Amino acid sequence: MGASRMIHGVLSKAMEPNKSLLERALEHFGAQTQVSKAIEEMAELITELARIDSNRGMNIKVIEEIADVIIMINQLKILFGEELVQSHIETKLKRLRSIIDQ
Ligand SMILES: [Mg+2]
Repeated sequence: MGASRMIHGVLSKAMEPNKSLLERALEHFGAQTQVSKAIEEMAELITELARIDSNRGMNIKVIEEIADVIIMINQLKILFGEELVQSHIETKLKRLRSIIDQ
């Protein structure tokens, strides 16, 4: 098992118990609302990343926004096809590995 697959496996397992909750959220709010919410959460993360203060120890707001984005990304994966997304992740990580290992 490659490192990327292993990392994905660990991340997926961590989200697994939440999958039905994310599916329910998509059903409850609707795909369009959740896509808008994903855009909103990503914008919030961008804002917090741009504000990072390297002199401060903990960037709690960045951490919170990363969590929000991961939750929304996992809904987008369900919406657009988890296996297709995973296949693209693997291709891109393979490319990254070959650049780093050069
Ligand atoms: Mg947020």
